[in-house]
Amino acid sequence: MAVASTSLASQLSGPKSISSSSVCPTFSGLRRLDQLNSQSFSSTHSLFQQVHSNLRLSSSRKGCRGVVAMAGSGKFFVGGNWKCNGTTESISKLVSDLNSANLEPEVDVVVAPPFVYLSQVKNSLTDRIEISGQNSWVGKGGAFTGEISVEQLKDLGSKWVILGHSERRHIIGEDDQFIGKKAAYAVGEGLGVIACIGEKLEEREAGKTFDVCYQQLKAFADAVPSWDNIVIAYEPVWAIGTGKVATPEQAQEVHVAIRDWLKKNISAEVASKTRIIYGGSANASNSAELAKQEDIDGFLVGGASLKGPDFATIVNSVTSKKVAV
Ligand code: PEP
Repeated sequence: MAVASTSLASQLSGPKSISSSSVCPTFSGLRRLDQLNSQSFSSTHSLFQQVHSNLRLSSSRKGCRGVVAMAGSGKFFVGGNWKCNGTTESISKLVSDLNSANLEPEVDVVVAPPFVYLSQVKNSLTDRIEISGQNSWVGKGGAFTGEISVEQLKDLGSKWVILGHSERRHIIGEDDQFIGKKAAYAVGEGLGVIACIGEKLEEREAGKTFDVCYQQLKAFADAVPSWDNIVIAYEPVWAIGTGKVATPEQAQEVHVAIRDWLKKNISAEVASKTRIIYGGSANASNSAELAKQEDIDGFLVGGASLKGPDFATIVNSVTSKKVAV
């Protein structure tokens, strides 16, 4: 966070502060003060070294200004979930808008079209944007009417699949274990998984937000063979498609809790490198404020991803991660 980075910088008395013109962000870097091992702060010199290494200097990009405040070390990630929307014509327009959008380079950008349009999108969309399925079958394909297999998604060029979305949990009735198995199969076959978790309004009001998120996380953790290719999407159900966005503080509070859960239950490395993105009425107007939160590593976007320029603005909200030093 900017505050943490400033206070850290102000503790430095050795080589004077890091000049903004010489520090080029790679959209990963500064950690919260409490994440740094206090034992290694035995001298001003080692403190400086630790801060400096967390800034991830890049000599190849001279002239950049500012540094980036992210608690995790992963690249900013923005996914567009088109859900069950679109026609051949409207999707062609959306693809053309995305192809002409200026997207910040330091962001992983993914869209999840309806299955029936995957080939159309894959064949017309810029390679800058990856493709995701919105769901996948729990195992190898076969006699499962209406389902889509991981093998088929890969065959059509998908690199990702969204699993555990609240609409599949609460409308279709998928449970934690089933979702965990799906994630395990997809990861095992080499697909990236956007693993959605989040509480319903009544659960939040009953003070159960963390319990619900931890239980859903545990179901993923118990099943998946590796966290290398998993992005966690925290999507409070009461914010999805409702226009009621979580405040930056509400979202940050849960993202910190998720990262801490990963640290305690998986490893510090997984906690650092796993992207934790926010979903729930994120749009072109609120994404910059949300993105300033240091544990928000991007977004999963529903409604606003159907408008190319708005989606591009959300992708580019990564720029609000830059803080002056
Ligand atoms: C979603 O469906 O994942 C989502 C976040 O939807 P919306 O942005 O419309 O709330």
